Amino acid sequence: MTTLLSRNFRYAILHPVRTSRMARIMRRWADAQPQVCEYCGKLVRRSKRQVHHCLPLWAVPEAAENPENFSLVHGGHCHQAAHLGNYAEGYIENWGEVCDVIRRKWR
Ligand SMILES: [Zn+2]
Ligand SMILES: [Zn+2]
Repeated sequence: MTTLLSRNFRYAILHPVRTSRMARIMRRWADAQPQVCEYCGKLVRRSKRQVHHCLPLWAVPEAAENPENFSLVHGGHCHQAAHLGNYAEGYIENWGEVCDVIRRKWR
């Protein structure tokens, strides 16, 4: 599975202190959420849990630590879908809307 560092390599290298602070904020936020994947609507185990930035760090670095920009997803398939298979360049602008449709279909 990918790591926060590998998914946000450029940001992590440029801003190591902010990255570790962000990781802490994301972990605390995730602990307080229902453990359900935003994308597929199924339960997420802690070991499979990842926090997705709806607006990616490379596009909107100011939103790196903003919980309104967080989305809880499964690592692997669901998180990859959020990035159109490419963590470095892809993201879905209408993420919330896409999640609603996908969850309805899979339920
Ligand atoms: Zn999922
Ligand atoms: Zn993501």
